[in-house]
Amino acid sequence: MKDEEKKALVSAVRLPDYTPQEEVDRALELVLAPLGGMGAFVKPGQKVLLKPNLVAPSAPEMAVTTHPALVRAVIRQVKVAGGICFLGDGPGVGGTLTAAKASGLLDVAQEEGAQFVVFEETAVFENPENRILKRIELTKHLKEMDLLITLPKLKTHCQMAYTGALKNQYGLIPGAAKGKFHFRFQNRDRLADFMIDINRTAAPTLAIMDAVVGMEGPGPSGGTPRKIGLLMASSDLSALDTIAFTIIGLTLPQVPVSLAAQRGGYGTVELERIELAGPPLDELRIRDFDLVRAPLNIMRILPLPRFVLRWIRRQVAPAPRINPKICIKCRRCERGCPVSPPAITPLAEGGPKVNDGTCIRCYCCHEFCPVKAIDLKKSLLARCINFDALSRAGSRMVGSIAAVFRK
Ligand code: SF4
Ligand code: SF4
Repeated sequence: MKDEEKKALVSAVRLPDYTPQEEVDRALELVLAPLGGMGAFVKPGQKVLLKPNLVAPSAPEMAVTTHPALVRAVIRQVKVAGGICFLGDGPGVGGTLTAAKASGLLDVAQEEGAQFVVFEETAVFENPENRILKRIELTKHLKEMDLLITLPKLKTHCQMAYTGALKNQYGLIPGAAKGKFHFRFQNRDRLADFMIDINRTAAPTLAIMDAVVGMEGPGPSGGTPRKIGLLMASSDLSALDTIAFTIIGLTLPQVPVSLAAQRGGYGTVELERIELAGPPLDELRIRDFDLVRAPLNIMRILPLPRFVLRWIRRQVAPAPRINPKICIKCRRCERGCPVSPPAITPLAEGGPKVNDGTCIRCYCCHEFCPVKAIDLKKSLLARCINFDALSRAGSRMVGSIAAVFRK
């Protein structure tokens, strides 16, 4: 009984569509019921910041951003609980208000009486328990709020395999400032650890995940909408992510941000320590979800000099390539590239260019491209050699050697 009491609670309900709105409102009530309802989190008079996934200007049906019908339902319930609603984000490129308008979220905020806030200015937040940065600059609006409710979208992610509840807080870093951390933490696992620092610092109270239509293939912006038909919620974001990525067919070792949560002791990532209120997990699993594997993190697994690791990374991690037939020359990829000067130049003389020598394989350009004009191409070497299998074999070998020494 004691073990059961320790389990993290994730709630899930089926929701086949975003219409009619009354069904979304009802599903939200149902999914929050096992957690005590919205009133268990929001008290009268509290200022509540709602953080959707507003990664780029994109229409709701593209499944890039949190759907406005869910955001509408959440605003309504926060207001019923007596909260004062704010809705905000700060995408890397494309302009926050442009993105908010395109995604339908600006209209929803105005229609439902929530104030839309643009993440531009920052304030310093400190947390001595952080592993990577004890002081982090996040949107200053967080200082003015009593609580944060995060509204992620379930999607695949080219760099991190999956994006959901935990990764959504990376958006608390305003706009293009995110790029500087991509550059600083080129080791993907360190970036994932930093994302957990952000969560620990911002301390979201509740996550409500839009998994009605998610994204498969090369997400988080360039993939394909995929119907999942679920609304999920939890106050333990790590547990919510574990259920979500299990549903689409991933396992913990394949999800860098959840592994970072495990390393940092942030929330619950072990399936056996999670209780799912809702349909049985086996009924929810999708066997043919089109997954992306996070590229092999060569910066972590081999004890070699940095310049050698960078050379190897260039061989194993896919490189961005612009398809000039699709490119509309908006230069969002160039503006969003964290490298200086940008490693991608769509208007270069003689056609679009990517500097493979300076590109750090963060895939921000892929994420920001509004027309899916950027493909991720494997090198000839990577096409010939299965680096994933090699890495798994290497990890097993290192594990066996370590086990011998532990005895
Ligand atoms: S070109 Fe693309 S993948 Fe390479 S560093 Fe720039 S944004 Fe990142
Ligand atoms: S590749 Fe995409 S983001 Fe870059 S200029 Fe072309 S359309 Fe714009």
